[in-house]
Amino acid sequence: MRKPFVAGNWKMNTDSLTSVGLARAVADSTIDIAGETVDVAILPPFVYMCNVVGALSTSHIAVGGQDVYFEQKGAFTGEISAAMLKDAGCAYVLCGHSERRHVIKETDELINKKVSASISGGLLPILCVGELLDERKANKTGEVVKRQIERGLAGLSEEKMLAVTIAYEPVWAIGTGLNATPEQAQQVHSMIRILVEKLYNKHIAEEMRILYGGSVKADNAKLLMEQADIDGLLVGGASLKADEFIAIIKAAV
Ligand code: PEP
Repeated sequence: MRKPFVAGNWKMNTDSLTSVGLARAVADSTIDIAGETVDVAILPPFVYMCNVVGALSTSHIAVGGQDVYFEQKGAFTGEISAAMLKDAGCAYVLCGHSERRHVIKETDELINKKVSASISGGLLPILCVGELLDERKANKTGEVVKRQIERGLAGLSEEKMLAVTIAYEPVWAIGTGLNATPEQAQQVHSMIRILVEKLYNKHIAEEMRILYGGSVKADNAKLLMEQADIDGLLVGGASLKADEFIAIIKAAV
């Protein structure tokens, strides 16, 4: 039985005051369910990480990074290692978010190194995959997602794979207000699970949580969560509004 998992990706938003206020508001209203019936994570900007970890110290809400660099330490100006995230109190980290793939131009090969380094550094990576609108229109969703997963997970042992969560986020649905229908999302999630079974085994495929992301709101969260292979939600814009994010977490239980 896969425990639902809801993660809020704050992207490049909030400040030192609002990050703490938002984290506390979410923690206070989910105290009886977070970590019990639903796993919850907040992914703040790096600079507010320690403030948010402090604000959540009496809750069971986890904290995660929005990105990580694959080297352990050294002359990599501006980068953050898995060990640093772990030291700051993170449990999770996003790898290959669509904004990093398409705005920052990260490749599958770089993302693969990040996934691997995250696990070696004691973090739980959330590998994000998803097709562009043109790719969906050209019926290439399956092909694109398969390539991103095969390359993103390349060389990962069965044991390491147990640490991985996959997030399916159709790029055309991120921050656009458009979202995949529950049926469209389920179709891709099911394909991902079958692919993971082929690449690894049935046990890993059945244990692995697959999140949906792309304009998730309080009013579509429940229908998405009712799908057999949707195990949780990766939430961007709506995670910046305490009431909306709390309602999404409650809908996922
Ligand atoms: C995201 O940032 O991963 C995301 C899904 O954003 P939004 O919910 O705003 O579409």
